[in-house]
Amino acid sequence: MTDLKATDPPVTDPPATDPQATVAKATAHASPGRLSTLHRRILDWYALEARDLPWRDPGTSPWGVLVSEVMLQQTPVRRVEPVWRQWMSRWPTPAALASSASGDAVQAWGRLGYPRRALRLHAAATAMVERHNGDVPGTLPELLALPGVGAYTAAAVSAFAFGQRTAVVDTNVRRVFARAVGGSGQAAPSLTRDETNLAVALLPEDHVEARTWGVAVMELGALVCLARSPRCPDCPVRDLCAWQLAGRPAYEGPVRRAQSWHGTDRQCRGVILAALRATTEPVAQCDVDALWPADDPQRDRCLDSLVADGLVEPLPGGRFRLPGRQDLTN
Ligand code: SF4
Repeated sequence: MTDLKATDPPVTDPPATDPQATVAKATAHASPGRLSTLHRRILDWYALEARDLPWRDPGTSPWGVLVSEVMLQQTPVRRVEPVWRQWMSRWPTPAALASSASGDAVQAWGRLGYPRRALRLHAAATAMVERHNGDVPGTLPELLALPGVGAYTAAAVSAFAFGQRTAVVDTNVRRVFARAVGGSGQAAPSLTRDETNLAVALLPEDHVEARTWGVAVMELGALVCLARSPRCPDCPVRDLCAWQLAGRPAYEGPVRRAQSWHGTDRQCRGVILAALRATTEPVAQCDVDALWPADDPQRDRCLDSLVADGLVEPLPGGRFRLPGRQDLTN
């Protein structure tokens, strides 16, 4: 259990319930003394409680960090870890992945979901071979210039692989800051400029601390400051938390719509891709048709979208396969 000091000051003034207003207010009022307390508490907690994850091993290459960050987007650690290990064993460098067919990457993505991420990793690996001699580039502009690498992934690789003092803002970080600093029960439905500014303002000045800060806050959000049922009694900043100090007011901001799955295009696309992953041979149109209720236009729409996204390659004779994969039965 982390040692808490009752004399540590709260990080913000008493909060309101509107997330954007409180984040802006927190940015303006968080003093260096208050911030250093928050930093020390969360960094000390992380030193004791961090999970032992393979991509956090100091020996993990920048490529391993990049692959992990792409896989972890909207996907739980327990599902990512075995697939990450298989990928790093099969494709330990960008050059190794770039030399394989993009369909092999889609096949090895398994059931992680959002399979366009596999194509984006393949495209990024190819670009790294062409532009960076097969290495992951170390600057934010170079990372952002890679295909499929967005602001979050570039920041995470910059911080976690290269130790740069970069603010990393994912869903977990946003939730912790919204509660502990902003005093709101939830973050806004999508990332706001105020949240990004707050994350930058909360970065420790010390370079060594800043290197660990992002992953420490992320871990607190993943293990303690849970979305539905935060484990406040186990939290290292519970006596500082603006949301706690305000009496845990109900969230009054805009609500993010829950994503459904059953019967959606995402489910239908997943069914088709799973069938193509399960065989080394091209799949005939009639077999694709049998995967979804007869006469449902959703199936054709989803197959068309998979082809348009580059996840499925149409072949002569009304057959389909993952892109670029050779028929291993020949
Ligand atoms: S006290 Fe509770 S709500 Fe506040 S940061 Fe900790 S876990 Fe989250």
